[in-house]
Amino acid sequence: MTITPAQATYFGFPGTLLFAILLLSALALFAYTASRRIQLLLLGAGDRENRLDRPLARLWHMVEYGFLQRKMFRDAYAGLYHALIFGGFLVLTLRTLMLVFEGIFPGAGLPFLPAGFWEGYLLVKDVVLVTTFAGVVLALLRRHVARKERLDPSFDADLILLLIGFLMVTDMAAGAAKMALDAKAVTASAALARSALWEPLTYSLSKQIFSLSPSSLRATYFASWWAHLVAIFVFANYLPFAKHFHVITALPNLFFAKIDSPGRMKSFDIEKAAEKEKFGVSSVEDFTWKQKLDMFTCTECGRCREVCPTHLTGKPLSPKGFMVDLRNALYADADALIDADAGRGDGSAAKKLAARTPLIGGWIDEETIWACTTCRYCEHACPVGITYVDKITDLRRHLVLEKSDFPKEAQTAFNGMERQGNPWNLAASDRDAWTKDLPFPVLTMAEAAEAKGAGVEVLFWVGCAGSYEERGKRVSRSLAKLLHEAGVTYAILGKEETCTGDAARRLGNEYLFQTLAQQNVETMKGYGVTKIVTNCPHCFNTLANEYPDFGGKFEVMHGTELVARLVAEGRIRLVHATPMSLSFHDPCYLGRHNGVYEAPRELLNAIPGITVKELPRTRENGMCCGAGGGRMWLDETIGARVNQARFAEIEANGTDAVGVSCPFCMVMLGNAKTELAGKTEAFDVLELAAQALPVHPG
Ligand code: SF4
Ligand code: SF4
Repeated sequence: MTITPAQATYFGFPGTLLFAILLLSALALFAYTASRRIQLLLLGAGDRENRLDRPLARLWHMVEYGFLQRKMFRDAYAGLYHALIFGGFLVLTLRTLMLVFEGIFPGAGLPFLPAGFWEGYLLVKDVVLVTTFAGVVLALLRRHVARKERLDPSFDADLILLLIGFLMVTDMAAGAAKMALDAKAVTASAALARSALWEPLTYSLSKQIFSLSPSSLRATYFASWWAHLVAIFVFANYLPFAKHFHVITALPNLFFAKIDSPGRMKSFDIEKAAEKEKFGVSSVEDFTWKQKLDMFTCTECGRCREVCPTHLTGKPLSPKGFMVDLRNALYADADALIDADAGRGDGSAAKKLAARTPLIGGWIDEETIWACTTCRYCEHACPVGITYVDKITDLRRHLVLEKSDFPKEAQTAFNGMERQGNPWNLAASDRDAWTKDLPFPVLTMAEAAEAKGAGVEVLFWVGCAGSYEERGKRVSRSLAKLLHEAGVTYAILGKEETCTGDAARRLGNEYLFQTLAQQNVETMKGYGVTKIVTNCPHCFNTLANEYPDFGGKFEVMHGTELVARLVAEGRIRLVHATPMSLSFHDPCYLGRHNGVYEAPRELLNAIPGITVKELPRTRENGMCCGAGGGRMWLDETIGARVNQARFAEIEANGTDAVGVSCPFCMVMLGNAKTELAGKTEAFDVLELAAQALPVHPG
């Protein structure tokens, strides 16, 4: 691939000098833009997650989702064209380096690669030029002919795609012109035969233009070579200003992503925040560097939007729109933010910032902030590891803790949690009233501690819904019966249990959450609790993933996990048949937040008579019931109701019943059945399992 001495003169000294100046200018401009972007990234709060732990797992996460593009192929067509373009990007980076090197040192090849490497590489490069071009054509067809709703018309996208196509064409043209020139200069059939073998496409093209005069070929080569390199410089310098910045930021964003316990929210020091009188996020620069990296990385593919239950039911929250608005807010005042942070200027930066559009109420409507159910479907869909729930809750924290500005219904729930330990505001003294109808005693931890020899294997964490809500109480009794049947020694906290604070935290009331968390951890540690079982996925997530920040490290199981295990071990026999077909609705906080999909299904399959028919949107793709993120306690006044949208999907599945494993899903789907006069009854999986016990103890 090296240039013959004769061709080296094509560049000539002025050309080489001009190229060197252009190259240095492009590099300097890129370095300047990148440094501004990095300064912008580092403004504001430090990150609360450890982003460097388990480096090998992080590396694999980056390879799996970045290089192997696992999520992209959920849309096969988009996955195909993206893989073609991304593959081209990987292969042709070396080609670009080679061309740049050639511009500075005419006639020299890249110095650090073995001679034999090039022939194989040229063959791959030849193929990739064509496949990348095909990828560009497919992408343009998707954007303009077979457009999906999630893709908005975008000048940026078209420009970048056309630029990539242009790069392929100019590369091929330069290669073909050079090959034809080589052929005319060398006239060695062996050399040409080698070209035919290793660069077959370039060779075919060079044959088409071989009849041109040497000066025309030189002109073609020069024009293509210069056009190609200038286009690369334009491309590289345009990236940081366009949605295609993800070409640079997606891999680091995936590396630094939260790779386990996706439902975990990190704590912050509430006292320090109080000293600074700063809670949550009120301005875009308050977001952490990782949250800003998310903004840089959004490709505007809209995969998050097409699955978001709030967008699908006509609420103002579209995750893609939210992310793009945050990015626009960040870029709109980028210079002023950087200058103000560095204390530069004569106060004009501060003046500009004082007059800017506010983040909340300006760029982002308050209704958008309160609409989110924290279901994480958007995060599961996003191919580049962007998260939303952390940003939404940071904004809610500011509104609740600094502004006392939140939907009035949330106040009722906060009062209930604060005064009675439950969002319904029912008497704390009634927390264990659900045990009364059982034909066997349910000990509290205090009673078990007093009774000689009453060792406790596991704490049954009942939760507020399991303690107070009518249907929830039935499910608590079912779990108690199942544990009793298996001979598990368990106890409850009784009146000492209080709300985990999940809804308070997700509604932005971190102060209330931390108060409840500390109280519960202290109580459980006082009894030496090591294992917990609960039927509420919200409690499950909080106890397992968030209480460790408060010193509460417990082994936490969902009710279906423990009971499925007891059935598999033969400690529980399920014998009475319940003949019914059943859809299973995955609760977001059990499934997407904690990856528990099999246990409820294993249990259902162990109950005689039940046939499970999967819903079209199931497991990782299960749709939210509308209750998460504290939405259970808020009115839903905009658009269609999320619970009704999900219930309609369940009705369309045509089963006798729907199985749930979450008390909130039970309430939401039960309400939807009444509201829509539907047929499909909701049952908790544990209720069905308890019905199948050989002897009904109550
Ligand atoms: S968490 Fe759920 S409701 Fe919130 S933006 Fe994402 S998909 Fe929409
Ligand atoms: S956040 Fe992710 S899924 Fe949503 S538009 Fe951006 S890149 Fe696509």
